[in-house]
Amino acid sequence: MPTITNHLPTSELQALDAAHHMHPFTTGDELSAKGARVITRAKGVYLTDSEGNEILDGMAGLWCVNIGYGRQELVDAATRQMQELPYYNTFFQTTHVPAIALAQKIADLAPEGLNHVFFAGSGSEANDTNIRLVRTYWAEMGKPEKSIIVSRKNAYHGSSVGSGSLGGMAGMHAQGGMPIPDILHINQPNWWSEGADLSPAEFGIAVARELEDAILHHGESRVAAFIAEPVQGAGGVIVPPETYWPEVQRICDTYDILLIADEVICGFGRTGNWFGSQTMGIRPHIMTIAKGLSSGYQPIGGSILHDDVAKVIAATEFNHGYTYSGHPVAAAVALENLRLLDEESVVDHVRKTAGPALKAMMQSLTDHPIVGEATVVGLMGSIALTPHKESRAKFAAEPGTVGYICRERCFANNLVMRHVGDRMILSPPLIITPDQIEEIGRRARKALDETSEALKDQDLLMAAS
Ligand SMILES: *Cc1c(COP(=O)(O)O)cnc(C)c1O
Repeated sequence: MPTITNHLPTSELQALDAAHHMHPFTTGDELSAKGARVITRAKGVYLTDSEGNEILDGMAGLWCVNIGYGRQELVDAATRQMQELPYYNTFFQTTHVPAIALAQKIADLAPEGLNHVFFAGSGSEANDTNIRLVRTYWAEMGKPEKSIIVSRKNAYHGSSVGSGSLGGMAGMHAQGGMPIPDILHINQPNWWSEGADLSPAEFGIAVARELEDAILHHGESRVAAFIAEPVQGAGGVIVPPETYWPEVQRICDTYDILLIADEVICGFGRTGNWFGSQTMGIRPHIMTIAKGLSSGYQPIGGSILHDDVAKVIAATEFNHGYTYSGHPVAAAVALENLRLLDEESVVDHVRKTAGPALKAMMQSLTDHPIVGEATVVGLMGSIALTPHKESRAKFAAEPGTVGYICRERCFANNLVMRHVGDRMILSPPLIITPDQIEEIGRRARKALDETSEALKDQDLLMAAS
């Protein structure tokens, strides 16, 4: 396969990037001064940058390249579809084969009762759709005042005004007039940081009951839905205590509110089942999907609706849709991606082989002096950095200072590992082998050693009081 190697020198690319290209979630001036890393190609679990470095991608891009990089089958699916029908819409009483086939395949894979797909171009768009879906559902049921959506602090549901409002990221809410009305945020099930003196089991029940408190406080007649990621991803791979989801499910069953599982990261094999809802034992009315749906090869997302919700929506005109809802090229690529995940038993590989290997590797890192707990589900996991593990202490420095240092040391050791605050995250392509996971472990340990040294040098090993 030919690769593009005749590009400009890295410094020129960086200068042009700084001059014209604005980056998401970035302080532009800082990045311009430093220069962005230029990724030029990728294969399997490895990226190559413009300097020729081979970097192990422990994050599968942004948690999305489930099938790994460089699959010719997906290229061919896109080529065929672009030749045959590069674009048509599904508004105005038309449809096309890729949208039909993909919706059917998704319904096939999804848990029982979840049989109807509304396509979007991304996870953010799909969650915007969900806000309108659940409110329209209750309006059609004769309860238009049932419009409050309960979400969680530190949740991530996207970056548009609607989905960013659902999310619970304080930094996002501080910019641009969010959240929109009638969105509430309860506490997250983050035992390590927020569990205080409760056991994980007690803490799981306590934070789940905040949902019940919210419903009782505002009245069942006002609360439309609860939205949550089965396992919080961007919040730091927060695996809830085992007591959490059963209690949330009990509350959703007791009161008449819809449960939305945001499966954008957890879906399509990440947790060792097709969907995180299966791993966590929950029964959502709506699931948000994107990312792994196409393994990131094309932008596509959507909402999967339970029959009970879909039939109410279908009885009215839902005044909503995107030019690229069900885009034929994106749909064709997603369908081929699902075929590969299915036929190559990738989900079984996560559950039986790669997931246990990642868990063992990450747990082995907890003997490191600055590593506290490791939490791993399937192929997503995180380790908490701490100056004192017994007390689950936080660092005295601004949260994220130490995580950032560690991420830089990972990069320097040709490993992409992300930090969320002072947690270090892994979410590699699902096709990763146990040997490659060990390679991550070696590079991560070296990065942790270097981080420890840097903390000593900079006097940052102190605990917050
Ligand atoms: C990434 C993400 C989204 C947003 O998806 P985009 O495609 O970036 O709009 C929504 N929910 C979760 C859980 C995510 O991780």
